[in-house]
Amino acid sequence: MSEQNIRVRFAPSPTGPLHMGGVRTALYNYLLAKKHGGKFILRIEDTDQTRFVPGAEDYILESFKWCGIEFDEGVHIGGPFAPYRQSDRKELYKQYADDLIKNGHAYYAFDTADELDTLRQQFETEKKTFIYNAEVRAGLNNSLTKSEAEVRGWLESGKPYVIRFKMPESEEIKMQDIIRGEVVVNTKVLDDKVLFKSDGMPTYHLANVVDDHLMEITHVIRGEEWLPSMPLHILLYRAFGWDIPAFAHLPLLLKPDGKGKLSKRDGDRLGFPVFPLEWTDPKSGETTRGYREDGYFPDAFINMLAFLGWNPGDERELFDIDSMAEAFSLERVNKSGARFDPDKARWFNHQYLQMKNDRELAEAFLPFLQKKGIITDLDYVQKVVSMVKERVNFVYEMWDQASFFFQAPDGYDEAAVKKRWKQSSYNQMEELKEILAQTEPFTSEHTEEVVKQWMEEKEYGMGAVMNAFRLLLVGALKGPHLFDIAELIGQEETLMRIQTGLHELGRKD
Ligand code: GLU
Repeated sequence: MSEQNIRVRFAPSPTGPLHMGGVRTALYNYLLAKKHGGKFILRIEDTDQTRFVPGAEDYILESFKWCGIEFDEGVHIGGPFAPYRQSDRKELYKQYADDLIKNGHAYYAFDTADELDTLRQQFETEKKTFIYNAEVRAGLNNSLTKSEAEVRGWLESGKPYVIRFKMPESEEIKMQDIIRGEVVVNTKVLDDKVLFKSDGMPTYHLANVVDDHLMEITHVIRGEEWLPSMPLHILLYRAFGWDIPAFAHLPLLLKPDGKGKLSKRDGDRLGFPVFPLEWTDPKSGETTRGYREDGYFPDAFINMLAFLGWNPGDERELFDIDSMAEAFSLERVNKSGARFDPDKARWFNHQYLQMKNDRELAEAFLPFLQKKGIITDLDYVQKVVSMVKERVNFVYEMWDQASFFFQAPDGYDEAAVKKRWKQSSYNQMEELKEILAQTEPFTSEHTEEVVKQWMEEKEYGMGAVMNAFRLLLVGALKGPHLFDIAELIGQEETLMRIQTGLHELGRKD
C-alpha cells in the first residue's frame, strides 16, 4: 500500500454527545491522513435504532467544525463511496450476511428470547459463564442443527431469526495492532456474535466491517473499547476473503486521579467539560457543559487532546494542526491509559491566549463588556488586554483582572484597607492628588518619575504610598503596573478616584 492511499475513518454512533475521547480518536485519524496526504471519512453508524438520539449527528458535525477537523468524504459532504450513513445503506448488508451463510461462516438462529433466558439461568445455577458458543448452539434451533428443509420452511413462514457468526471452536488468532503489537486470542473465549438482526438491520460488527472494506479503509484507528471486537472483525475479513486493514487501538482517557475511565460524572464533580460543545439531552432536558462554552479556544483544546496519549518524542508541547500532523505517528501513541489533567487543559488555553494578538482578544472580550453595560472602544480594550492577558487562562477571566479599567471601584477590599490604609495615608494621598493634578504629560513613565521624586523628597515609604494609591485606583491590591493603569484611565479619572477614596476611607485614627 502506498502512503498516498491511506484512507481512515471516524465512525461514531449518534447515541448522544461526542465524548472528548471520540474527538481525540477523530483527531488521530485526521492527523494520519493529513500527514500522508490520505483521505479522512466521516461515517455515521446508526444501525442500532434503539440507541438513536435526535440531534446527536448535528452535534457531531458542529463539534468538528468548531475544532477545525475537516473530512474529505462523509455524511455531510458526500463522496465516491456515498451514502455514508449506515441506515441509508441498509439494503446492502443482507447479501453479505447471506454470503457468509453460503460459505459456512454464519448461520440462521431461531432461538426465542425465552429459550435464551432459560439457558442463561441454567448456566447461572450451574455457576458457569454463559457464552453463546459451539456447545450452546448445538442445543438450539438453527441452520446448523436442523435440516435444510426445516430451516427453509421456517424462513418461508416468517419465523423470526438472526444471523450469527460461526466462531471457530478453538483457534489461536494472532493479530497485529500498531500500538499494542501482537495480540493473541483463542476463539474459545469468544461468542457467536449476531451479525444480522431480526429487524432486518445489520449489527455494528457486520456493517462496520463491510463498510470499512467497501470504503477501502486502510487503517482502523479507534478506541481501546473496541479491542475485544478485533478478533471477530479479523475473522470476518478472513471469512469474506478480504484484505485486512491495519488496526490501531488507542489508549483510554483516564480520570485525573488515574483510576478508571474519564466520564461525564467526573467532569460534573471536578468542574471541567468532557464534551467539546454544550449538550442538552433531548429527553431529560439536562444541559452538560462544553469546552467551547467554557471559553476554550478550539486550537488549544485540540493541542491538549493530541497530548492525551501521544507525544512528539521531544520537549515541544505547542503545535498548530499542520505541525502536529507533520510530527504525528501512530508508533508514538502510548499503550497505557492517558490521564486527563484539567490544570494542563487550562495551561494550554493560557498558552494559546498569549499567542493570540491583542486585537483578536479585544474583539473576544468586547461582548463580555457590553453585557456588563460598558460602553468603550476597541482600541482602549486592546490596550487593557495587552496589560492583563498574562494573568488569565480565559478571555472571560479578564473582567476580574481588568474591571477597574472600565469603572471606578465600587468598594474597597476590606482586608487590604485594614492593613494598608494607614494613619499617614490620607495626607499622603491628598498630597499625591495635588502633584498628579500638575503632572504633564500624564504618561506612565513620567508620572512614575514625578511620584518617586516626591516620595524621596518627603522620605515617604514607597510601599505605604503605592499600596494606598493602588487601593484607591483599583479597590484592591491587584492589577498591573500602577502607573500604567493611571495613564490608561487618564488624569481626570485618576484624580477623581483619589478624591472618592479619600472621602470613602477617610482619616484613620
Ligand atoms: N460505531 C462505533 C463507535 O461508535 C465505531 C467503532 C469503530 O471505529 O470501529 O465508536
